[in-house]
Amino acid sequence: MSELTDRTAGIAANLAAVEERLAAACGAAGRPRDDVTLIAVTKTFPASDVRILADLGVRQVGENRDQDAAPKAQACADLALTWHFVGALQTNKARSVAGYADWVHSVDRDRLVTALGKAAHRAGRTLRCLIEVRLGEGEERAGAEPADVPRLAELVASSDGLTLGGVMGIAPLSGSPDPAFASLAEVAERLRRDHPDASAVSAGMSADLESAVRYGATHVRIGTALLGIRPPNR
Ligand SMILES: *Cc1c(COP(=O)(O)O)cnc(C)c1O
Repeated sequence: MSELTDRTAGIAANLAAVEERLAAACGAAGRPRDDVTLIAVTKTFPASDVRILADLGVRQVGENRDQDAAPKAQACADLALTWHFVGALQTNKARSVAGYADWVHSVDRDRLVTALGKAAHRAGRTLRCLIEVRLGEGEERAGAEPADVPRLAELVASSDGLTLGGVMGIAPLSGSPDPAFASLAEVAERLRRDHPDASAVSAGMSADLESAVRYGATHVRIGTALLGIRPPNR
């Protein structure tokens, strides 16, 4: 096999395994499979992998660094995919991200809302924003405190160029993810009382998608299980 068909076969097998896990997790939770959207997190992997995934039917891709994501999105512009920005975001990158991202999962402070709103408006685009919620105690985790979510949500909802999509969370690295995803589900439920359309719950990665689906995730962000091991800290 050529290198490309080799890589295609590998990703296809990984995707089938992830699909099987998702189907099982949805079944166990009594949820229809189409309740949960699979986002392929392609960070550190080349645009050729994005093409392979697109050929296999994956339309949602996630990236966490603008300097990698921007050229990749441009190289794949013909595929008309939906791009999710899932990483920590500096306000000075808002303008670039607003040029290609459809969703931003990591909205965690007022200044970022203002910067994204201005950038989206200027680009004539609409960004669907998820409020990233800090899960777990005392850890070096990004995200807004749960108590700040209503204010941030209001700010997003009232910003030109932005739509409030819901919430996002990352479970702590150690221990069971269940308590973290349970508290994210509570924050999400509270948010929906004021913003019924903000129904997205982005939770779950390669290691913990089952727990996330059990606690109501509507979007899972899967990297390693689809594309393989990355360099450390990416
Ligand atoms: C890298 C990353 C993922 C994917 O993680 P895997 O464990 O490789 O599935 C999901 N969400 C965010 C925010 C990430 O940075």
